[in-house]
Amino acid sequence: MADDVKGQELMDKLVSLCKRRGFIFPSSEIYGGFNGFWDYGPYGCRMKRAVESLWWREMVETRDNVEGLDSTIIANPTIWKASGHIDQFSDLMTDCKNCKARHRVDQMEDPTTCPVCGSKDLTEPKEFNLMMKTFVGPVFDDEHVAYLRAETCQPIFVNFHSVRVATRQKLPFGVAQIGKAFRNEINPRNFTFRSREFTQMEMEFFCDGEEGMKWFEYWKEQRINYYRNKLQFPEEFMRIHVHDKLAHYAKAAIDIEVQFPFGWGELEGVHHRGTWDLSQHSKFSGVDLSYMDHDNHRTLMPTVIETSVGLDRTILALLSRAYDEDTAATKKEGMEEDVRVVLHLPPLVAPIQAAVLPQSKKLKENAEALYKDISRYFRSEYDDTGSIGKRYRRQDEIGTPYCITFDFDSLNDNAVTVRDRDTMLQERIGITQLRDYLEKKIGF
Ligand code: ATP
Repeated sequence: MADDVKGQELMDKLVSLCKRRGFIFPSSEIYGGFNGFWDYGPYGCRMKRAVESLWWREMVETRDNVEGLDSTIIANPTIWKASGHIDQFSDLMTDCKNCKARHRVDQMEDPTTCPVCGSKDLTEPKEFNLMMKTFVGPVFDDEHVAYLRAETCQPIFVNFHSVRVATRQKLPFGVAQIGKAFRNEINPRNFTFRSREFTQMEMEFFCDGEEGMKWFEYWKEQRINYYRNKLQFPEEFMRIHVHDKLAHYAKAAIDIEVQFPFGWGELEGVHHRGTWDLSQHSKFSGVDLSYMDHDNHRTLMPTVIETSVGLDRTILALLSRAYDEDTAATKKEGMEEDVRVVLHLPPLVAPIQAAVLPQSKKLKENAEALYKDISRYFRSEYDDTGSIGKRYRRQDEIGTPYCITFDFDSLNDNAVTVRDRDTMLQERIGITQLRDYLEKKIGF
């Protein structure tokens, strides 16, 4: 099978699993959907929150020199004039006169042929601005136009001074933000990979320009290690794309790409942005955002190193990497079907980390008490419907790393059976040791 066919098959299976098991739904589905918008269901939002807190912990809570910010989605539109988004944040697009499909010219293999119907009858390429517009105030005219933010980093630059003064941070230090961003993408596609509303996790690190390359290398390394160690991405699943064409103000830029079902795609960018951002906002706001280095009696415009990742793309990467159909293991555990669908998600980000399954409904009371107890420490679920084998399969399919069976022996030996999702091996663990055991396995 050609790789792209396999990729398409995997994507179809993922989209269907996400819908069926409550990870991701098309937005407004009962109204026919809305292209480029997706809703996260019960398991999807658990996973989303888990990845957000992992990133936040990694980038903010475990560091003394990175602060957090939570800014508004709509802000003074001059911000987007200063950042260049109003004048330059556009893609070239063309329409097929035959099938009416709309395409981004830079994504077409042959910009003279429609990739949908093969027609050569295309409109002249024209610039299409990606900013989403709205109006603020009672009058809907040009003076009241505002924009939904196209990226979460601009409000960080705008708040640079306030954060620094409030926290008494000295260079070098960073400011991080997680939040929604909006882009009127010409051609949303590949499930959540290219959406019109998505979540970004960005960190802007402000430093002395002389140390810019040192910090660029540092953050590049930190972010690659995060994917290796925290999200457990193997080397062959990731690659680094070094930009050879740089924006005029940039000194260096790389993308961390991963193997999505449709091919390699950007997950995160690490960019050395020079002094561009703070200089632009100083110029447009009239407020000098330069930094007084009291120790060395000088003033400087800080250089910015940015790490910028999409949360939706992270979830898609995790799911694509985790999806597996396991045929060898199926007859174990007394199941009839040929294929076990399993998500090998890292336990830290699995939507459910431990499921409590009583051997019989007669054990409901004890098993529920155990579930209530462990759900204080782990994302947990209780399930007593159907055979144990079927319940294991339901948990495999949503990526639950540990299933805990409370059986009749548990009443006497005060122990439970813990079944590992990946090896399907079972271990008997004392209930009083369970929390410790799971914490070690999950790797907090
Ligand atoms: P692309 O080249 O794929 O359009 P970009 O280089 O414009 O992405 P950035 O502006 O650097 O992306 O945004 C940082 C991160 O935000 C990206 O690495 C990606 O993970 C995420 N992102 C950007 N656009 C989208 C989108 N339309 N849908 C989902 N995530 C996105």
